[in-house]
Amino acid sequence: GELPPETQALVKRRQQSFGPTSVLFHEKPLHVVSADGVWLQEADGSRYLDVYNNVPSVGHCNPRVAQAVSRQIATLNVHTRYLYDIVHDYADRLLATFPEGLDKIAFTCTGSESNDVALRLATIATGKRGFVVTDNAYHGNTTAVAEVSPSSRPGKPLSPHVRVVPAPIGGAEVGAKLEADVKAAIASLEKDGHGFAGFLVDTIFSSDGVAADPAGFLKGAVDATHAAGGLFIADEVQPGFGRTGAGMWGFQRHGVLPDVVTMGKPMGNGIPIGGVVSRLDLMQGFADSVGYFNTFGGNPVASAAGLAVLAEIEERGLVANAADVGGYMMARLGALMQRHEAVGAVRGAGLYLGVEFVSDRDAMTPAPEIASHIINALRDRHILIGAAGRYGNVLKIRPPLIFGRDHADLLVETLDASLTQL
Ligand code: PMP
Repeated sequence: GELPPETQALVKRRQQSFGPTSVLFHEKPLHVVSADGVWLQEADGSRYLDVYNNVPSVGHCNPRVAQAVSRQIATLNVHTRYLYDIVHDYADRLLATFPEGLDKIAFTCTGSESNDVALRLATIATGKRGFVVTDNAYHGNTTAVAEVSPSSRPGKPLSPHVRVVPAPIGGAEVGAKLEADVKAAIASLEKDGHGFAGFLVDTIFSSDGVAADPAGFLKGAVDATHAAGGLFIADEVQPGFGRTGAGMWGFQRHGVLPDVVTMGKPMGNGIPIGGVVSRLDLMQGFADSVGYFNTFGGNPVASAAGLAVLAEIEERGLVANAADVGGYMMARLGALMQRHEAVGAVRGAGLYLGVEFVSDRDAMTPAPEIASHIINALRDRHILIGAAGRYGNVLKIRPPLIFGRDHADLLVETLDASLTQL
């Protein structure tokens, strides 16, 4: 059907203000006015199940976060060069979730900023410029980070100091393959005189189309990184804060120890806060070389949000919920493969799942047209979902962590019905 006139007017206003930087979701954009838990609501009162948004990970308009933020903003909110308690209550609790040695944090406001800092830490520590990333990675929008984000520059040549490796998707051999690919990429950087500063990956490989198994497959590539003198940077913007259901951090599923960990998105449940966690020696080199100040990063309100999010994850057992509901949903999605030829693979961990659409299951021919059809069909049936992967053919399932089995049932049954009608 047609968009309501108020929605059309808003699309026009948006075009007028933002011009070419206006990016909207869905063929028929959604005009949302409120949200609650796993539901988003439009002006006419219709509700949409949110299977897309990993930022409100403890639920849209989470009452504890709302209250902590409102209290703090009515009490004190300043730039970050004063002493105030709440940032320490938060930093201590957050750092306690990391392995020994990873005990220093710098707060930022976004994932992009966090990765920008991480690149500088690695460049300073190694004295080298070269980075290895996966071939459809997204790590953010600053000039330096965009250079290591091939997904945001499709068809354009990579910067000279960047090498890509294929996403580790498919089969038991992915670990050995990734290790060999990373070694070759490092050799190429060294041959061309850039040297090797680090290997940067999103540990759930979200924009690459979700890669999770077998757990541990990162080990060889990380060892190769260290053997070559580079840093391993774990981008936890997507998998972090319990999403994979196997602990707080995605790297933990792989039994590896990063040199630098970056985070953002779900950290403040929508209040902008990000962070970079690393060791003293690396932070020292960085501070000595360039210094660091971030006006808003970790300010009292951002800290209040972050602290409330951690409390919710821990007290409500949301890591266990991600494992339980994610496992249940994965099994139900897997069963769809018997009924629908278009479903070529189902993979993921916890509440980060990917459903890969293909036009030929034997050849695994990517079918982005099916993914985009399904996204819009689900939107018509009031479920919000997106796609990822090099070919845009992988349905990306990453709802708020409070998602329940009943929500999973609704998603799987609606997806089943939409696939039947293909
Ligand atoms: N890293 C990853 C893996 C991401 O998915 C994103 C955002 N999609 C970023 C970094 C950048 O985060 P932000 O948009 O907060 O700058």
